[in-house]
Amino acid sequence: MRLSDRVVDLPESGIREFFELAEARQDVISLGVGEPDFSAPWAARMAAIDSLERGRTSYTSNRGLRELRERIATHHHRYDQLYDPDEEILVTTGASEAVDLAFRALVDPGDVVAVHDPTYISYEPGIELAGGEPLSVPTRAADDFALTRERLEAAGAGAADTLVLCYPNNPTGAIMSEEQLAEVAAFCREHDVQVIADEIYAALTYEGAHSSIATQPGMRERTVVINGFSKAYAMTGLRLGYALGPAETIDAMNRIHQYTMLSAPTTAQYAAIEGLRSCDDEVQEMVDEYDRRRRFVHSRFREMGLDCFEPRGAFYAFPDCGGDDEAFAADLLEDQGVAVVPGSVFGAGGEGHLRVSYATSMRDLKRATDRIETFLATEWTVTA
Ligand code: PLP
Repeated sequence: MRLSDRVVDLPESGIREFFELAEARQDVISLGVGEPDFSAPWAARMAAIDSLERGRTSYTSNRGLRELRERIATHHHRYDQLYDPDEEILVTTGASEAVDLAFRALVDPGDVVAVHDPTYISYEPGIELAGGEPLSVPTRAADDFALTRERLEAAGAGAADTLVLCYPNNPTGAIMSEEQLAEVAAFCREHDVQVIADEIYAALTYEGAHSSIATQPGMRERTVVINGFSKAYAMTGLRLGYALGPAETIDAMNRIHQYTMLSAPTTAQYAAIEGLRSCDDEVQEMVDEYDRRRRFVHSRFREMGLDCFEPRGAFYAFPDCGGDDEAFAADLLEDQGVAVVPGSVFGAGGEGHLRVSYATSMRDLKRATDRIETFLATEWTVTA
C-alpha cells in the first residue's frame, strides 16, 4: 500500500524501542515506565463494574457525561481554574487525544509551535501530523529545567504561533512557580502566542501547589489546559482525559472529536465520576508514596555522586549520567538488568541525562539504585 508522506518520516517512539530491549531480558527492574504502579482506587473500579452491570455500554454525549464535566469543573477550582461544564470542557480518550485535538484545532500548515526541550515525546510528532513546524526551546538544569523568557527569546519563540507547556514535566520532574509562569505569560501576551498547557501531572506536585499558566492575567482566553485521569487516578488503561479552554476552541476540538472518536469510553467516565466524587484520600495516599520515593531516589543519586536536579512534580528523576546517556542506559541494562530511559529520547536538551521513573515499588527502587551504584563503581567512567 502507499503510505502517506506524513507517516513515512514519523520515527518510532524511542521509549518503546528501549522497552523492547528490556523485555527481551529476564530479571530486569524497570524504572522506565511512565505509569503508576498502583491500580485505580477501588471505588472508581466498582463504579466501572456497576456501570457495566447496569448495561451502560452505549455512547455518551460527544463532550462527555454532563455529571463528569460538572465534577471536572468543580475539581479544577482547587487550581483557581473556572470553566463552564457546558461549553468549556471536553472529555477525551486520554490526555493524548486532547493533545492531538488541540494541535489539529489550533495549528495551520506552516505554523510554528514552540516546545521546550526536553519534554514529553508526543508533541513533536503531533505538531508535524497537524502540518506545523516544531521549534525547540532548550531548557537547562541550571534553571531547574524551567522555561524562562531568556530561553524563549534565544530560541526565537516570539515568532511562534503556539507554545506547548508541560509542567510538572515529563521527563525532568520540574515544576514552574507562579512567578516563573508570569514571565512566560508576559512573553506570550507580548508576542501573541497561544498556549497548549499539558497539566496531566498537576496533582503530583510535591512542593507547594500546582499553578497553571491559564490563571495568569490575559491567559485564559489564549490557553487550552489538558489534564486527565491516567496519572493521579492510576487509570492509564481506562483512557480518559479532558481539555479545558475558551468555548470556541473547545467547540473546534469537539468538532474533530465527534467525527474521529465520537465519545470517550463510557465505562471509564463512570469510574472517573466516582474518582472525583469520593477518592481524594486514595489519590493523596499515592501522592504521599511518590513523594517518599522521590526523596529516596534523589538522595541515593546524590550519595552516588550523580548530579541530580531535585524533581518537584510528576514521578520522574532526571540525573546527569556524566556521559553518553544512550550508552549508559544500554550498558546498565546489559550489566545490571536495570532499565532507565536515555534522556536524549526527550530531545537534545535531555542528552547526558537519564529518565528514572519512581512509579515503582520502594523495594525495587532500593534494589535498582544499589545496582546503579555498583554499575557506577565498576563499569562506568564519567566522561562529561
Ligand atoms: N501528557 C504527558 C506529559 C504524559 O507524560 C502522558 C503519558 O505519559 C500523556 C500526556 C498521556 O496521557 P494519557 O494516558 O491520558 O493519554
